[in-house]
Amino acid sequence: MREQLEAWVDAHKHEIIAETQAILRIPSVEEEPGEPGAPFGRPVGAALAHTLALCERLGMKTENFDGYIGHAEFGEGEEIVAMLGHLDVVPPGSGWTKEPWGATIEDGWLFARGASDDKGPTYAALFGAKAVLDATQAAGTPLSRRIRLIFGCNEESGFKCVEHYFGAAGQPKPALAFTPDASFPLVYAEKGAFSAEATRRVEDDGDVRVASFRSGLRANMVPDEAEAVLAGDPGILNVVRAVMTGEKGVTIEGAGDTLRLYARGKAAHGSTPQEGENAAVKLLRALITQPDFGAGDRQWMDDLIRRAAPTGAGVGIAGKDEITGPLTCNLGIVTKEEDGEVKATFNVRYPATWDPQETVGKFQSSLDSGGWQVAVEGHMEPLYVPQDQEPVKTLLRVYREHTGDESAPKTMGGRTYATAVAPVGVAFGAGMTGDPDVAHQADERFAVERLLLCAKIYGHALYELAK
Ligand SMILES: [Zn+2]
Repeated sequence: MREQLEAWVDAHKHEIIAETQAILRIPSVEEEPGEPGAPFGRPVGAALAHTLALCERLGMKTENFDGYIGHAEFGEGEEIVAMLGHLDVVPPGSGWTKEPWGATIEDGWLFARGASDDKGPTYAALFGAKAVLDATQAAGTPLSRRIRLIFGCNEESGFKCVEHYFGAAGQPKPALAFTPDASFPLVYAEKGAFSAEATRRVEDDGDVRVASFRSGLRANMVPDEAEAVLAGDPGILNVVRAVMTGEKGVTIEGAGDTLRLYARGKAAHGSTPQEGENAAVKLLRALITQPDFGAGDRQWMDDLIRRAAPTGAGVGIAGKDEITGPLTCNLGIVTKEEDGEVKATFNVRYPATWDPQETVGKFQSSLDSGGWQVAVEGHMEPLYVPQDQEPVKTLLRVYREHTGDESAPKTMGGRTYATAVAPVGVAFGAGMTGDPDVAHQADERFAVERLLLCAKIYGHALYELAK
């Protein structure tokens, strides 16, 4: 069957390339909800409708689940083999030398936001599936499992799509699955992850108080800017100003009964907090050296400095496993409002073999005992599929047959749709060693040759899993 599938892809390469360009020209960045059926905005809804219409034309049955997510399906059988890809993309950002929605081809590269993450790989799988549909029909060999292509619309900002699909929409979990949204050979373990908002109220009782504090935009990014407004007795603030001027990396503005202090750090992804410099922590460390704050302010600042350790030691959950390495903890957002409410948002990624409930429980009780109210949100349980189990065995064999690349499967700290179907799915492609690192960056691109190779690999993999 491999030869027939490859022949189909070779015979249809112009169509595959043109359809991939067409989906890349839809600017499917999340927006405010559009009309009914577009919960992530009109462009994302359009990308889903466009893709499902294409699948209908290719002879598959489709269903759109209120614009959250949709699927296309063919074949017989109770069990489902699923491909989960996503059609939403992050905003283009700056620095592009090509038009982000142009999908132009230059020197064999297809340039567009979403070319490699994840519309390009998703369309490779779509056409790989079409090759299976046509080749098995021509050969008269029915599949024993249905093949289902699931197109998510909220991968980049919350996974509400897959939650809706397996939750409110009541769709069954597949028997086996992959998501073409990371790298080859495949990713068989992903850390568990959750965010948590910790709040407490602070009484103002010092000669100087932190009237407000603001740092960070997202739980899963290391904040690179922090700002504090200090209020209090002008004479004491004058002294604070004199003492702190020249404090490493802190700038001061203002006079009289208000001072503004700023610190700069270095941004990094929340899964690698040790690679950044947390601006919130930097500013808190500078502030805490001043003796004029009351006990309330001293306590929350001191507490957060301790809790911000990237190892998780400050929240009682430091540790590691053999498979995915050490836990990471990112203090992504810190705010204090005029009314005395302090909020700290953490993003934790814990080893894949750890118990999810126990890990969250330890984290919660550590913060509880420090007087914080804790709300855990967006908990994604870890993924771990042992290497001698399916679909790992089959996917690895197919990938190696097509590429000759014998490198070992991987683990990662990020998370993909595979965690939504744990433990029967893994991330499978489409990055390979030596690729430019372009996901979420300027001039995102995907090689046309790779698009076609992926269509062959994904088609073959779907066939092997469903035959
Ligand atoms: Zn992605």
